[in-house]
Amino acid sequence: MTFSGSHPTRACEWCGERFAVAAGPGRKAKYCRPSHRQRSYEARRLAGDRGLGPDEVLIARRTWERLRDALYRLEAASEDVAMDLLQGKPTKAEYVEALGHLSAAVRELQDIAVEPLAIAE
Ligand SMILES: [Zn+2]
Repeated sequence: MTFSGSHPTRACEWCGERFAVAAGPGRKAKYCRPSHRQRSYEARRLAGDRGLGPDEVLIARRTWERLRDALYRLEAASEDVAMDLLQGKPTKAEYVEALGHLSAAVRELQDIAVEPLAIAE
């Protein structure tokens, strides 16, 4: 999403997406939508209940497993591509294929929605 230069924006404290904030006096919104304010509140409350410290985040096991596996595949793809391209004189088609291989691994990571269950302020 893009905004014209006349509207000040800030990053949502929950999702990081930039959103327009009203100019003028008054408390500035911290979240891009009410549901993100609510999820942030719930995550902070759970962090308090669990005694999480400021350096700790609680995420779902399934999310962590998907992240770990996707990072492993990205690392493997990166090593494969480096090995393939460093041998001999790669053709343009080989570069294109390597880029596609890396892009697929990156897309897999991008498709993982990472949202904390609990996070301290
Ligand atoms: Zn948001």
